[in-house]
Amino acid sequence: AMRHLPYFCRGEVVKGFGRGSKELGIPTANFSEQVVESFPSDISTGIYYGWACVGNGDVHKMVLSIGWNPFYKNIKKSVETHIIHTFKEDFYGEILSIVIIGYIRPEKNFDSLEALISAIQEDIEEAKRQLDLPEHLKLREDNFFHLPEGKILNNH
Ligand code: ADP
Ligand code: MG
Repeated sequence: AMRHLPYFCRGEVVKGFGRGSKELGIPTANFSEQVVESFPSDISTGIYYGWACVGNGDVHKMVLSIGWNPFYKNIKKSVETHIIHTFKEDFYGEILSIVIIGYIRPEKNFDSLEALISAIQEDIEEAKRQLDLPEHLKLREDNFFHLPEGKILNNH
């Protein structure tokens, strides 16, 4: 799972498929199909942590899920970022920049909504702890987040 990390990626935030993440208090900003297709095809599905920034805003901690996209009958992946920050407004159509740093766990099925939510809360706590480590804090200051025309774009 770690082979492709850290992974830098930038792209537009699009409408997801309304799984109601926001109603659970855990909105996830979805990348377009085009951005997802640019990911290494062998990147593991599951939950990751890293840094994220909307437009040229501040850089925040995030947890990210790479999963199978039910809209495409689970033959395509979806990439969804939950930014650990409270935003005043939605940011559909804006450019989201992320660096994926580490892997937390594989995808799982949960018996109940409560179990799902508490797993996600644990993922968020784990992401917060990991990202406070000096080697991970460093990437927050990466030029990728501060130069809009930064040369590392989707690792090309
Ligand atoms: P969708 O199915 O359209 O992705 P969600 O319920 O997952 O709907 O909500 C995602 C949207 O919520 C994002 O596209 C973004 O505009 C907004 N949003 C607000 N706060 C956050 C946040 N902290 N992290 C991610 N997205 C957020
Ligand atoms: Mg979403």
